[in-house]
Amino acid sequence: MSEPLLQVRNLKKYFPIRKGVMRRIAGQVRAVDGVSFEVAAGETFGLVGESGCGKSTAGRSILRLIEPTAGQILFNGRDIRKLKAGQMRLMRREMQIVFQDPYASLNPRYTVRQILEEPMIIHSLFDSAAERKKRAAELLETVGLSASRMDRYPHEFSGGQRQRIGIARALAVDPKLIIADEPVSALDVSVQSQVLNLLDDLQKQLHLSYVFIAHDLSVVKHISDRIGVMYLGQIVELGDSDELYEKPLHPYTQALLSAVPIPNPEVKRERIILQGDLPSPANPPKGCYFHPRCKDVMEICRTQTPAWKEVEPGRFAACHLYD
Ligand code: SF4
Repeated sequence: MSEPLLQVRNLKKYFPIRKGVMRRIAGQVRAVDGVSFEVAAGETFGLVGESGCGKSTAGRSILRLIEPTAGQILFNGRDIRKLKAGQMRLMRREMQIVFQDPYASLNPRYTVRQILEEPMIIHSLFDSAAERKKRAAELLETVGLSASRMDRYPHEFSGGQRQRIGIARALAVDPKLIIADEPVSALDVSVQSQVLNLLDDLQKQLHLSYVFIAHDLSVVKHISDRIGVMYLGQIVELGDSDELYEKPLHPYTQALLSAVPIPNPEVKRERIILQGDLPSPANPPKGCYFHPRCKDVMEICRTQTPAWKEVEPGRFAACHLYD
């Protein structure tokens, strides 16, 4: 891997639980609990896990849309947690986000042109309205929409088209990194692959890096070079996308993958049904957080936290099966 563009080290985001009239802190929800990974220029890193595992909170913490509790976020070697508000505003040009819900993330009172021009105005990118309009037209063409529709409102577009507008808005400031937070999960299956293909094309064209967040391993696999599997605020397995898909190491990854349909009818994969719900991150189980639901649980798993280790070259997991 070339020099990482983004390095996330031991990222934590805890939310306090307050109780009583004095609103005293009675505990912590450990939404993100020590997440580390790197993303190279032009690479896609997939972050996958069940809903509530902390992946979206991790994505927002990386951009400081919510302030992390601890950890380092290095972008091009600079620790963005140390940046002051003005410096952070400049940095936001480099790091953009595409949200899950294209219906909710676009201002319904703005035309598409206004939506695309807003980030250009915030970042003082062009001197004249004519230049901004030209750029908005280019952006729409880039994401496969006709520039002739720029004076329409979001409700006049389909879900897939609205997500294209969301992507165009993220591109308006020429970012290097895009955090795509479940960008296709609100879309019809037929439209999902069109948006994924668009993201793929844009990456090649513009040499973008992505952190691609999703709950569906088949969607993440489609686009990612490497994948991190999150469970209860922690990454439990990380490795090359093809290798992880071929031979998942962690029992949680194995269970997630067993639910993914295989296009080849010759290949059979045993379905592993996950027992129980995701435990509360306010009160995680002792030992391995996954032990109450794990098909391979051993005595040691109930009391001792498994260490993070390189099981095979470039493939990491936290599981006592590899002690
Ligand atoms: Fe299962 Fe134990 Fe591995 Fe946790 S450490 S995933 S409980 S085998």
